Amino acid sequence: MKKLFALCLVFSLLLVGCRRTNDIHVSTNKTTVKKAKRKTATKKKTTTKKSTSKKKSTKKKTVKKKTVAKKSTNANYYICIDAGHQAKGNNSLEPVGPGSSTKKPKVSSGTSGVATKKSEAKLNLEVALKLQKELVKRGYKVLMIRTTQNVNISNAQRAIKANNAKVDATVRLHADGSTNRNMHGFSILQPGYNNRYMNKQIITKSRQLSACVNKAFASATNAKNNGLSTRNDMTGFNWSKVPVTLVEMGFMSNPSEDRLLSTESYQNKMVQGIANGLDNYFKKV
Ligand SMILES: [Zn+2]
Repeated sequence: MKKLFALCLVFSLLLVGCRRTNDIHVSTNKTTVKKAKRKTATKKKTTTKKSTSKKKSTKKKTVKKKTVAKKSTNANYYICIDAGHQAKGNNSLEPVGPGSSTKKPKVSSGTSGVATKKSEAKLNLEVALKLQKELVKRGYKVLMIRTTQNVNISNAQRAIKANNAKVDATVRLHADGSTNRNMHGFSILQPGYNNRYMNKQIITKSRQLSACVNKAFASATNAKNNGLSTRNDMTGFNWSKVPVTLVEMGFMSNPSEDRLLSTESYQNKMVQGIANGLDNYFKKV
């Protein structure tokens, strides 16, 4: 009996032992399955991540393409608009160029309309504000030297402001006056190749800009084109380290042109001409 009991005990112990091993095996199998599941999950995650990053890179590419497209259609360019003169001229002197011993008044008072009695400073500002709106509409970034009459900024300071802002181009707005009341039409002033204060590359670009504005202004306004005038004695040019041009919009000493210059419709034509000139310039450079 004792022997039978002992045999039974040994047998049952053996059975338990086998089951445990099985259990372990099964559990090992479970672990393997779990591991395998985890691997698949990780793979899926990696795949998702990859596809997300692919999407991101596609997005980046699209953004880059857009930026390039914008640049080619004139956005991202920074323009300085300098409405010539101010409410009161400033006759104290400043050097006409960096390091120059020749001095000129900081800002002259400008001319005035024989018919409208409007000051040139006011007319320049009216057109400058319209030009600002148009350039912003076309996607340009704009730096205004002044937006009011009551400022005191010298011509050298105006150029330095544009230099510091690293603008792509400066447009200076002025109007003419003459003792001859019959004189009429517009002209564009540009620096000469022999300008001793300005960088050669900036001179070349200023002249390209001037040519573009001259052409576009003429076709937008149908005004008499008095052409391009080369000047090396202008403080606002000589201090400039960026491409610069100056528009003499017309003669305020000519009664009919003076009246015309103050009309909304003609101001809008001039603005279109200058903006088109800038567009064309940036297509070239
Ligand atoms: Zn002027």
